[in-house]
Amino acid sequence: MIEGLAVGRIVHVKLGGNCRPAIIVQVWADDKINAVCFVDGSNDGLPPGQHTKWFTSLHYSDNHDELNSFHWPERVP
Ligand SMILES: [Zn+2]
Repeated sequence: MIEGLAVGRIVHVKLGGNCRPAIIVQVWADDKINAVCFVDGSNDGLPPGQHTKWFTSLHYSDNHDELNSFHWPERVP
């Protein structure tokens, strides 16, 4: 069980090499999550007017470049 994992928390996912914020919308028993990501519009290659992207069954990883993974937002010094 990952501490603090709950619907409504904000995590990061990687899109095109950049961190993007995503709100957790579902937590599964195996600590995987579904999340809605807020993208940087066409800079992330999405069509005009699409500002979110739904991700499913993301797993936690400290390796932020791992495919289909999420991580907690990095702390700002
Ligand atoms: Zn990040």
